[in-house]
Amino acid sequence: MGTLDVINPRTGQADHTIKPASCEEVAGKAAALREAQPAWEAMGVEGRCGVMARWLGAVKARAADIGEADAHDTGGCHTSYLQGFITMGNIGGWLEDAPKAFAALEYDEMSPSMPSVRVQSQVVAFPLVGVISPWNAPLMLALLDAIPALFAGCAVLLKPSEITPRVIETLFETVREVPELASVFDYVTGAGEVGQAVIGEADTICFTGSVPTGRKVAVACAERLIPCHLELGGKDPCIVTETADLERAATAVLRGAVYATGQVCYSVERVYVHESIHDAFVALLVEKAGDVRLNADDPRAGHIGPFTHGPQADIVAGHIADAVEKGARVLCGGQIEEIGGGRYLRPTVLTGVSHDMAIMQDETFGPTIPVMAYADTEEAVRLANDTNFGLTASVIAGTAEEAEAIGRQLNAGGIFLQDTFLTFAKMRTFGSDSFGWSGHGSPRIGPESLRRFLRRKSLLTQTGEVADIRNDHHLGEGA
Ligand code: NDP
Repeated sequence: MGTLDVINPRTGQADHTIKPASCEEVAGKAAALREAQPAWEAMGVEGRCGVMARWLGAVKARAADIGEADAHDTGGCHTSYLQGFITMGNIGGWLEDAPKAFAALEYDEMSPSMPSVRVQSQVVAFPLVGVISPWNAPLMLALLDAIPALFAGCAVLLKPSEITPRVIETLFETVREVPELASVFDYVTGAGEVGQAVIGEADTICFTGSVPTGRKVAVACAERLIPCHLELGGKDPCIVTETADLERAATAVLRGAVYATGQVCYSVERVYVHESIHDAFVALLVEKAGDVRLNADDPRAGHIGPFTHGPQADIVAGHIADAVEKGARVLCGGQIEEIGGGRYLRPTVLTGVSHDMAIMQDETFGPTIPVMAYADTEEAVRLANDTNFGLTASVIAGTAEEAEAIGRQLNAGGIFLQDTFLTFAKMRTFGSDSFGWSGHGSPRIGPESLRRFLRRKSLLTQTGEVADIRNDHHLGEGA
C-alpha cells in the first residue's frame, strides 16, 4: 500500500506522510496486544497505576513537544498548546479515580432473595478496545477513551484521523519509554478502511466522529455483536432570556461559538434571543466579534486559527450560502479567506434565520453564530429542542434559577447555565448521556465511564443445604 499525504492546515501543502496499515498489519498488532493483555490485567489496578505514573512522567517531560505537534495538526488552536498538560491531567485524574472506581464495583454479600447464597463480583476487562478518533482535538479525543480503557486492564488499538496523525506519533514516543505500557497500547494509521479493520479485530469500540460514519461503525459492530460507544456531532443551542445581562450573554455566546474556529462538538451552533433584546444583543455580539483576530501571522497569537481540515470550509460556506439564499443576513464575517494557503473564517453572525436552513439543522462545525428571536419561553424551548441532536445546550438568564428552570426542559446531555462551553467542568465528576443522534452508549467521562471496559461476573456460593427436587411440591399438593 502507498503513502498518504497529510496537509498542513496553515499552508494547504502536504508536509507529512503516513503509511496506511494493511488489514494484515492491523491483525498483527491486534494479536500482539491480545497476547500482552492478560499480564496487564493480572497486575491489578494498583500495578497498572504504577506503570501509568511512569508514563505521566514521560508525558510531562515532553508536554511542550506534544502541544507543538497538536498545534501543527490543528493549525494552532489555543487548546492545542495545552494538550501535554491536559494529557497529564487525564492520566493524573485516573490515577486517583481508577482504584476508587474498581472498589465501587466490588460486591460481596448474602443474596436478599436467597439468603443462604453468597454473591461475589468479579470484573473482567474486554481484552482489546478499539478507539477511532476524529481530527478536531485529535489527542484529547483519542485519549478520553484510551486512558480509562488502559486503567481498566484492556489493551488499546487506536486509529486516529488520517488528517491529524502527527500528535499521535509524538505521544507514542512517550509510550515507548514505558515498555509495559507499549506492549498493550498501539496505533495504526489510515482512513476509513483502517477503522473498519480495527472494528474487525476489537472486542469493543469507542468512536468519536460524525453521524454518518458513526452509523457505519454501529452497523459494523452490530455485525460482530460487539458493544460500541458513539460520541457524535451536535447542533447545540443557546437561549438568552429577556432578563439576561447582555454583556455576559454576548461574551459567552461569542466564545462558545467561535472557540477553535467552531470545530468543537459542543460549540454553540444556534442562538435564540428574546425579541425584546434581540437587536441590542446582536449589535453587541457583532461589536465583540469584530475584535476576534485570526492567528494567520503567528499560530500563538490571535484568537482563532484556520480550518484544521480545509474542505470543512466548503461545508461551512455552503451553510452560509443556503441561509442567505433563504433570506438570512450576514452581519459580519461570512467569507472564507485564503491566507498563506490556510483557509479562515472570521466570526460570522447571521440574523433572519429559520429552521428550514441547514445552518439551523445540520452541524456546521465553523465559527458561525445564527441568531433567531423568540417571543416566550415555551417557544424558545420548542426551538432549542427542534433538532435530531442533543449533545449540550446553554441558557443565559437574569438569575441562575431562571436559567435552571429552562435548562431542565432541554433535551441534551450537558446543560450549561449562565455561560457556555462548560464541558470541561464535568471531567472526573459525572458523565452525562447524549440525546438523539449525538451519542450512544455509556458516558465517556467520570468514574462510571470505566465500566464501559469491564464485564462483571457474579460468583454465587450456596452456603446452606442444596435443594432436593423430590421435596418440591406443586401448590395445593401434599400440604
Ligand atoms: P468522521 O466521522 O469523518 O471520522 C471519525 C474517525 O472515523 C476518523 O478517524 C475517520 O478516519 C474514521 N472513519 C472514517 N470512515 C470510517 C469507517 N467507515 N469505519 C470506521 N472508521 C471510519 O469525523 P471527523 O474526523 O470529520 O470529526 C468531526 C466530527 O466529530 C464532527 O461531527 C464532530 O461533531 C464529531 N465530534 C464529536 C465529539 C463528541 O464527543 N460527541 C467530539 C468531537 C468531535 P479518517 O479521518 O482517517 O477518514
